[in-house]
Parts: sequence; structure tokens; C-alpha cells
Amino acid sequence: MEKFNTMLAAAELATTRCRGWSFAMSKDRYDATGLLALAEMSDSEDPIDEDSFYVVSPTGAIGLCNDGEDIDWLFLSDNTPNEELPLTYQAVPQIKFCPNCGSPVVSGARFCEKCGKRIS
Ligand SMILES: [Zn+2]
Repeated sequence: MEKFNTMLAAAELATTRCRGWSFAMSKDRYDATGLLALAEMSDSEDPIDEDSFYVVSPTGAIGLCNDGEDIDWLFLSDNTPNEELPLTYQAVPQIKFCPNCGSPVVSGARFCEKCGKRIS
């Protein structure tokens, strides 16, 4: 899952994955135009703080994660309304490669396990 600092950025990605959404609380319906307009308004009137972010599920559902707490799924995708959405955000591990020998390096490691080259 990708994370976004604005709802508009999340909505823009979501509109490439889905054509319709329902708001989780009220079941109000949104199409792509409505969703983008709402996102723009939400960003300008009620921006989230630095520790919070939006996430977009593979089917286009949009969730909000406040301060590293559980994800609130705000907009559910019409593609799979019963999609099992994760409650916590799992970052995709960053895979790095050794600049010397090209072996994959465990994230956070300081030296390459294969050739011993220092990883910056
Ligand atoms: Zn190496």
C-alpha cells in the first residue's frame, strides 16, 4: 500500500483503480468527480497533521491512519465492497542492493553480507 499526505493524492490514485465508492459512515455514494472534489475540499479545510497519512488499497478503498494508530477506512471500493482491509499499515520493506557486488542488502544493514562493502 502507498501512503499519501493529502487526500487528493490518495483519491487520484484511487480513481485509477475504481469508479465508485461509498463512504463508510453514511453510505453516501461518490463517483470519481465527487471523490476528487471532496478530497480537495478536505485537504484545504481539514488537512491532516504530519504523523497522519492516507492509504489506498489495491482495489481503490481509501483509509486514514492517524498517528500510527489503526487505519480508518473512509471510502470503500465498489469493486469489492466486502474487501478485507488491513487495520494497520505495513510498510513495504525497502530493498537495497550492494553498489559493489549487486547482492540484495537487508534494510538497515551497514555492510554487505556477501562482499563486506560498507553501505551508505
Ligand atoms: Zn556486496
